Amino acid sequence: MPAVHPMNAARRVLAEVFGYSAFRPGQEKVIAATLSGRDVMAVMPTGAGKSLCYQIPALVMEGVTIVVSPLISLMRDQVNALIQNGVRAAYLNSSLTPRQHMLALDNARRGVYKIIYVAPERLMTPSFLSFAKEARIAQIVVDEAHCVSQWGQDFRPGYLQIAPFIASLPARPVVTAFTATATDTVRRDVIRLLGLQNPYGVTTGFDRPNLFFEVRRPKDRDMALLRFVREHEGQSGVVYCATRKGVEEVARMLCDNGVDAVGYHAGMSDEERGRAQEEFVADTAPVIVATNAFGMGIDKSNVSFVVHYNMPKDLESYYQEAGRAGRDGEDAVCCLLYQPSDVHLCNYLIEHSMEASELDEETQKVVLERSRERLRQMTYYATTGGCLRTRILQYFGETPEKPRCGNCSSCMMEHAERDVTREAGMIVACVLAMNGRYGKAAVAKVLAGAKDEQLRARGLDKLSSYGCLKHEGEANIRAMIDELVMNEALEVSGGQYPLLKAGPRARETLLGDEPVRVAFAAPVPEEKRRRVSPKKTVDKGLLSRLIALRRSIAEEQHVPPFIIFTNATLKDMAHKQPRTRAQMLRVDGVGEGKMARYGDAFLREIDDYLERE
Ligand code: ADP
Ligand code: ZN
Repeated sequence: MPAVHPMNAARRVLAEVFGYSAFRPGQEKVIAATLSGRDVMAVMPTGAGKSLCYQIPALVMEGVTIVVSPLISLMRDQVNALIQNGVRAAYLNSSLTPRQHMLALDNARRGVYKIIYVAPERLMTPSFLSFAKEARIAQIVVDEAHCVSQWGQDFRPGYLQIAPFIASLPARPVVTAFTATATDTVRRDVIRLLGLQNPYGVTTGFDRPNLFFEVRRPKDRDMALLRFVREHEGQSGVVYCATRKGVEEVARMLCDNGVDAVGYHAGMSDEERGRAQEEFVADTAPVIVATNAFGMGIDKSNVSFVVHYNMPKDLESYYQEAGRAGRDGEDAVCCLLYQPSDVHLCNYLIEHSMEASELDEETQKVVLERSRERLRQMTYYATTGGCLRTRILQYFGETPEKPRCGNCSSCMMEHAERDVTREAGMIVACVLAMNGRYGKAAVAKVLAGAKDEQLRARGLDKLSSYGCLKHEGEANIRAMIDELVMNEALEVSGGQYPLLKAGPRARETLLGDEPVRVAFAAPVPEEKRRRVSPKKTVDKGLLSRLIALRRSIAEEQHVPPFIIFTNATLKDMAHKQPRTRAQMLRVDGVGEGKMARYGDAFLREIDDYLERE
């Protein structure tokens, strides 16, 4: 047999099996390392394309690849997707009957599969061990590798059996580990606990250019959510709530308003949860309202938005959950609905998190302080006027190329500056009248003339300043106060409830001797938004026919629609409008397996549509 360079073989598999024309950042190097026999430790964010990094070597190398994976639903979807691409794959976990399990192992012994997904708890069972000792194992993959570390959020004791399992094999195969969790502690733990040998380490950038980040600070979250969902009609999305009760209320609110939404939380029965998840994945319920119990196992790539109805307690959680949007590479939106009360709830949860803790007092103190600091960073994200993407990337230790990304709600604000010297004098007068005993929010309310029970109870509605800047609205007033603090016309005291009082330059401002200018933010219209995923001319009528065909095939085969073709693939198909098999193979995401299965049906649909035009 003439020797083919393994990377050429890898590129062929990419094109022929998976139907993609180019590697994504990081993929090529990981694959090359694996094929040369070197262990891998890859940190790649959700949606970066980790699966191909180990599936392609699995298909190039001789022998079978074992993938250790934490979740049943994840394994099922991965195996389904592989089979659609014509790859022989199977999984072994507790969802199989003993008979099914035996059959699968028999097949495995006979070398039927190229890839086997297995739950960590199965590795050391006698039947699996006896198979593994005889099999020719090419690669061991540890998916969601952070589960091995007690420092990760999802520690899974079964993962500790991986190293002994590898050690028990007659020959050590190459071991590759994948995670989206970035911290150094976790990464070091993974390398140590899995016994990786001089692994090729890769951390691809954490940026997800196709995600638009947005913060809204609404008075009424329900209204804001409804508006958001209506702006994204026909798209599929997740709404995260902080509590189970919240999930139920928000799901009901959406349904009452004509949105097909289902709820999902850990208090529901397995069956109810399974059904909710199925409806969401099958696209019959476009919106799922969930607690953070929902997520890791959901391998749905066409999620177009993730809304956080409440602010999470840290940016790690936020980015992980928000990152479930846009895994197919299409433009998607991550929107956080923020209210100051979120901070109190998170604080409460943090303070009470140590109650049942077995940590000693010193350690508890350190852990608490870290949690508080993470919450401060999260709150800063929710309230900043600066670039949201820059905030996130800096938090994860990256330095963005540009200080503003041009693709987040902060960057989409236009700043119009105007002279507010007169208004500034009125603000200082109001602060003086309130004797430095109130915070920024109360001062802004008085000036805006808010109808507020607490103001009235304290007699603040009797001040002559009350309502004198009514036309400005509270947001503008707060922006002016911020400016005055910077100019030292006002001062903010420290402490838990910062108070506003006159500063060293209050007098000049009060008298109007000191000109003040403020840049007020105003949203940029939708059509000026930057699009990241390439804008394709797509015939909407054809696209909806292709979507309908996909759905009917999915129903027939009892698999989620995105496993047949992703949205990105259907869009590319509607754009390229292939008329021959060769042209069909040029569509992104159509490999030979899928061509053989569905190519003709989709070609007929396209023919039929174009003839009738
Ligand atoms: P991760 O596991 O890192 O979250 P996945 O492996 O699920 O990401 O990949 C996300 C999506 O990107 C999938 O739909 C996958 O088919 C697609 N994908 C992966 N690699 C490529 C590539 N080189 N070109 C185009 N699409 C890709
Ligand atoms: Zn930005």
